[in-house]
Amino acid sequence: MIFAVVTIVIVIIVIAVILGKKTHSPESKGKRGENYVAKILGDTIIGEQYVINDLLFQNEKGQSCQIDHVFINKFGIWVIETKNYAGTIYGQENQREWTQVLAPGHEINKFYNPIKQNATHIYHLSNYLKVKKVFVNVVVFLSNADITNIASGNVYSINELHTIKNQTTDITIPVDKMEYFYNKLLELKNNATITKTEHIGNIYKMQQQLQQGICPRCGGKLVLRNGKTGQFYGCSNFPNCKFTKRIN
Ligand SMILES: [Zn+2]
Repeated sequence: MIFAVVTIVIVIIVIAVILGKKTHSPESKGKRGENYVAKILGDTIIGEQYVINDLLFQNEKGQSCQIDHVFINKFGIWVIETKNYAGTIYGQENQREWTQVLAPGHEINKFYNPIKQNATHIYHLSNYLKVKKVFVNVVVFLSNADITNIASGNVYSINELHTIKNQTTDITIPVDKMEYFYNKLLELKNNATITKTEHIGNIYKMQQQLQQGICPRCGGKLVLRNGKTGQFYGCSNFPNCKFTKRIN
Protein backbone atom coordinates (compact mmCIF):
# COMPACT_ATOMS: atom_id res chain seq x y z
CA MET A 1 0.00 0.00 0.00
CA ILE A 2 2.73 2.46 1.02
CA PHE A 3 4.69 1.43 -2.08
CA ALA A 4 1.71 2.29 -4.31
CA VAL A 5 1.24 5.70 -2.68
CA VAL A 6 4.97 6.51 -3.01
CA THR A 7 4.91 5.46 -6.68
CA ILE A 8 1.89 7.70 -7.39
CA VAL A 9 3.56 10.65 -5.62
CA ILE A 10 6.77 10.15 -7.65
CA VAL A 11 4.81 9.96 -10.90
CA ILE A 12 2.96 13.18 -10.03
CA ILE A 13 6.25 14.95 -9.21
CA VAL A 14 7.85 13.81 -12.49
CA ILE A 15 4.84 15.01 -14.52
CA ALA A 16 4.84 18.34 -12.67
CA VAL A 17 8.56 18.83 -13.37
CA ILE A 18 8.13 18.01 -17.08
CA LEU A 19 5.13 20.36 -17.43
CA GLY A 20 6.96 23.04 -15.43
CA LYS A 21 9.97 22.81 -17.76
CA LYS A 22 7.72 22.97 -20.79
CA THR A 23 5.92 26.14 -19.76
CA HIS A 24 9.20 27.87 -18.87
CA SER A 25 11.13 27.05 -22.04
CA PRO A 26 12.00 30.06 -24.25
CA GLU A 27 9.93 28.55 -27.05
CA SER A 28 6.74 28.33 -25.00
CA LYS A 29 7.38 31.78 -23.53
CA GLY A 30 7.61 33.09 -27.08
CA LYS A 31 4.45 31.22 -28.02
CA ARG A 32 2.51 32.72 -25.08
CA GLY A 33 3.66 36.18 -26.13
CA GLU A 34 2.50 35.57 -29.68
CA ASN A 35 -0.90 34.40 -28.47
CA TYR A 36 -1.20 37.54 -26.38
CA VAL A 37 -0.45 39.73 -29.38
CA ALA A 38 -2.99 37.80 -31.47
CA LYS A 39 -5.65 38.57 -28.84
CA ILE A 40 -4.88 42.29 -28.95
CA LEU A 41 -5.00 42.41 -32.74
CA GLY A 42 -8.34 40.60 -32.77
CA ASP A 43 -9.86 38.61 -35.60
CA THR A 44 -10.29 39.29 -39.27
CA ILE A 45 -13.25 41.59 -39.95
CA ILE A 46 -13.98 41.57 -43.68
CA GLY A 47 -13.56 45.03 -45.18
CA GLU A 48 -11.94 46.48 -42.07
CA GLN A 49 -9.00 44.43 -40.87
CA TYR A 50 -7.32 41.13 -41.69
CA VAL A 51 -5.06 39.11 -39.41
CA ILE A 52 -2.69 36.22 -40.11
CA ASN A 53 -0.72 34.68 -37.25
CA ASP A 54 2.43 32.56 -37.46
CA LEU A 55 3.11 32.74 -41.18
CA LEU A 56 5.85 30.24 -42.06
CA PHE A 57 6.83 29.78 -45.71
CA GLN A 58 9.69 29.04 -48.07
CA ASN A 59 10.45 30.85 -51.32
CA GLU A 60 11.63 29.33 -54.61
CA LYS A 61 15.27 29.92 -53.61
CA GLY A 62 14.79 27.69 -50.57
CA GLN A 63 14.96 30.58 -48.11
CA SER A 64 12.42 30.32 -45.33
CA CYS A 65 10.73 32.95 -43.27
CA GLN A 66 8.61 32.92 -40.12
CA ILE A 67 6.49 35.97 -39.41
CA ASP A 68 4.73 36.24 -36.05
CA HIS A 69 1.79 38.39 -37.21
CA VAL A 70 0.56 40.20 -40.29
CA PHE A 71 -2.14 42.80 -39.67
CA ILE A 72 -3.74 44.39 -42.72
CA ASN A 73 -5.94 47.47 -42.63
CA LYS A 74 -6.45 50.48 -44.90
CA PHE A 75 -3.30 52.10 -43.45
CA GLY A 76 -0.89 49.36 -44.38
CA ILE A 77 0.33 45.80 -44.08
CA TRP A 78 1.72 45.76 -40.54
CA VAL A 79 4.39 43.10 -40.22
CA ILE A 80 4.85 42.31 -36.53
CA GLU A 81 7.84 40.66 -34.87
CA THR A 82 7.50 39.84 -31.15
CA LYS A 83 10.37 39.68 -28.68
CA ASN A 84 10.10 38.16 -25.23
CA TYR A 85 13.20 39.61 -23.58
CA ALA A 86 13.76 40.62 -19.97
CA GLY A 87 15.93 43.46 -18.69
CA THR A 88 16.67 46.80 -20.31
CA ILE A 89 17.08 47.01 -24.07
CA TYR A 90 19.27 49.59 -25.79
CA GLY A 91 19.18 50.18 -29.52
CA GLN A 92 18.71 52.54 -32.42
CA GLU A 93 16.89 52.03 -35.67
CA ASN A 94 20.04 51.83 -37.82
CA GLN A 95 22.29 49.99 -35.40
CA ARG A 96 23.16 46.49 -36.50
CA GLU A 97 23.14 45.06 -33.01
CA TRP A 98 21.10 45.90 -29.95
CA THR A 99 22.01 45.28 -26.34
CA GLN A 100 20.14 43.57 -23.52
CA VAL A 101 21.24 44.36 -19.98
CA LEU A 102 19.73 41.98 -17.47
CA ALA A 103 20.75 43.96 -14.37
CA PRO A 104 22.86 47.12 -14.01
CA GLY A 105 26.51 46.13 -14.33
CA HIS A 106 25.58 42.52 -14.96
CA GLU A 107 24.99 40.22 -17.89
CA ILE A 108 25.02 41.90 -21.29
CA ASN A 109 23.79 40.20 -24.46
CA LYS A 110 24.01 41.45 -28.02
CA PHE A 111 21.33 40.49 -30.53
CA TYR A 112 20.59 41.34 -34.17
CA ASN A 113 18.44 44.49 -34.48
CA PRO A 114 14.87 43.09 -34.72
CA ILE A 115 13.82 45.95 -37.03
CA LYS A 116 16.43 44.72 -39.53
CA GLN A 117 15.35 41.12 -38.94
CA ASN A 118 11.78 42.16 -39.71
CA ALA A 119 12.97 44.09 -42.79
CA THR A 120 14.00 40.70 -44.21
CA HIS A 121 10.45 39.41 -43.59
CA ILE A 122 9.07 42.46 -45.40
CA TYR A 123 11.52 41.92 -48.28
CA HIS A 124 10.12 38.39 -48.80
CA LEU A 125 6.47 39.50 -48.50
CA SER A 126 7.11 42.37 -50.92
CA ASN A 127 8.55 39.96 -53.50
CA TYR A 128 5.69 37.52 -53.05
CA LEU A 129 2.86 40.09 -53.18
CA LYS A 130 4.69 42.13 -55.88
CA VAL A 131 4.02 45.35 -54.03
CA LYS A 132 6.21 47.97 -52.33
CA LYS A 133 5.74 50.83 -49.88
CA VAL A 134 2.65 49.37 -48.19
CA PHE A 135 4.47 47.72 -45.30
CA VAL A 136 4.85 48.94 -41.73
CA ASN A 137 7.69 47.39 -39.73
CA VAL A 138 6.57 46.75 -36.13
CA VAL A 139 8.56 45.17 -33.30
CA VAL A 140 6.71 44.38 -30.07
CA PHE A 141 8.43 43.76 -26.76
CA LEU A 142 6.47 41.87 -24.13
CA SER A 143 6.01 43.31 -20.66
CA ASN A 144 9.26 41.97 -19.20
CA ALA A 145 11.44 44.42 -21.09
CA ASP A 146 12.27 48.07 -20.40
CA ILE A 147 12.32 49.62 -23.87
CA THR A 148 12.42 53.31 -22.87
CA ASN A 149 16.00 53.55 -24.17
CA ILE A 150 15.19 52.39 -27.71
CA ALA A 151 15.24 55.20 -30.24
CA SER A 152 12.75 54.04 -32.87
CA GLY A 153 9.15 54.72 -33.82
CA ASN A 154 8.81 51.09 -34.97
CA VAL A 155 9.07 49.62 -31.50
CA TYR A 156 6.09 49.12 -29.20
CA SER A 157 5.55 47.64 -25.79
CA ILE A 158 2.73 45.10 -25.58
CA ASN A 159 0.64 47.69 -23.68
CA GLU A 160 0.92 50.18 -26.56
CA LEU A 161 0.27 47.67 -29.33
CA HIS A 162 -3.51 48.31 -29.49
CA THR A 163 -2.75 51.87 -30.70
CA ILE A 164 -1.70 50.59 -34.14
CA LYS A 165 -5.36 49.78 -34.80
CA ASN A 166 -6.19 53.52 -34.74
CA GLN A 167 -2.91 54.75 -36.18
CA THR A 168 -2.95 56.51 -39.54
CA THR A 169 -0.06 56.41 -42.04
CA ASP A 170 0.69 57.84 -45.49
CA ILE A 171 -0.32 54.48 -46.94
CA THR A 172 -3.79 53.84 -48.38
CA ILE A 173 -4.95 50.36 -49.26
CA PRO A 174 -8.36 50.03 -50.94
CA VAL A 175 -10.77 47.45 -49.47
CA ASP A 176 -10.50 45.06 -52.44
CA LYS A 177 -6.68 45.16 -52.25
CA MET A 178 -6.76 44.45 -48.49
CA GLU A 179 -8.80 41.34 -49.15
CA TYR A 180 -6.58 40.35 -52.09
CA PHE A 181 -3.39 40.60 -49.98
CA TYR A 182 -5.02 38.64 -47.17
CA ASN A 183 -6.14 35.84 -49.48
CA LYS A 184 -2.70 35.65 -51.12
CA LEU A 185 -0.99 35.40 -47.72
CA LEU A 186 -3.50 32.85 -46.47
CA GLU A 187 -2.78 30.78 -49.58
CA LEU A 188 0.97 31.09 -48.89
CA LYS A 189 0.48 29.93 -45.30
CA ASN A 190 -1.84 27.05 -46.16
CA ASN A 191 0.29 25.75 -49.03
CA ALA A 192 3.57 25.84 -47.11
CA THR A 193 5.06 22.41 -46.51
CA ILE A 194 8.09 23.52 -44.50
CA THR A 195 8.31 22.49 -40.86
CA LYS A 196 9.63 24.53 -37.92
CA THR A 197 12.63 22.18 -37.70
CA GLU A 198 13.45 22.71 -41.39
CA HIS A 199 13.13 26.47 -40.87
CA ILE A 200 15.64 26.37 -38.00
CA GLY A 201 17.99 24.33 -40.23
CA ASN A 202 17.63 27.02 -42.92
CA ILE A 203 18.55 29.77 -40.44
CA TYR A 204 21.74 27.85 -39.60
CA LYS A 205 22.51 27.39 -43.30
CA MET A 206 22.02 31.13 -43.98
CA GLN A 207 24.37 32.01 -41.12
CA GLN A 208 27.04 29.81 -42.70
CA GLN A 209 26.47 31.42 -46.11
CA LEU A 210 26.76 34.85 -44.51
CA GLN A 211 30.28 33.92 -43.42
CA GLN A 212 31.01 33.11 -47.06
CA GLY A 213 29.82 36.50 -48.27
CA ILE A 214 26.29 35.56 -49.36
CA CYS A 215 23.38 37.84 -48.47
CA PRO A 216 20.99 36.03 -46.10
CA ARG A 217 18.09 38.17 -47.29
CA CYS A 218 18.20 37.64 -51.06
CA GLY A 219 21.09 35.27 -51.84
CA GLY A 220 23.06 38.05 -53.58
CA LYS A 221 26.78 38.64 -53.17
CA LEU A 222 28.04 40.89 -50.38
CA VAL A 223 30.45 43.55 -51.64
CA LEU A 224 32.67 46.05 -49.86
CA ARG A 225 31.21 49.57 -49.86
CA ASN A 226 32.19 52.97 -48.50
CA GLY A 227 29.71 54.62 -46.13
CA LYS A 228 29.59 57.77 -44.03
CA THR A 229 30.95 55.90 -41.03
CA GLY A 230 33.50 53.82 -42.93
CA GLN A 231 33.54 50.63 -44.96
CA PHE A 232 30.92 47.91 -44.68
CA TYR A 233 29.57 44.96 -46.66
CA GLY A 234 26.44 45.69 -48.65
CA CYS A 235 24.32 43.50 -50.92
CA SER A 236 25.08 43.58 -54.67
CA ASN A 237 21.30 43.71 -55.25
CA PHE A 238 21.02 47.17 -53.68
CA PRO A 239 18.67 49.14 -53.84
CA ASN A 240 16.26 46.18 -54.06
CA CYS A 241 17.95 44.56 -51.08
CA LYS A 242 19.34 46.81 -48.35
CA PHE A 243 21.06 44.16 -46.27
CA THR A 244 24.36 45.27 -44.73
CA LYS A 245 27.01 43.60 -42.62
CA ARG A 246 29.73 45.07 -40.45
CA ILE A 247 33.36 44.25 -41.21
CA ASN A 248 34.52 41.94 -38.45
ZN1 LIG B 1 20.62 40.95 -50.53
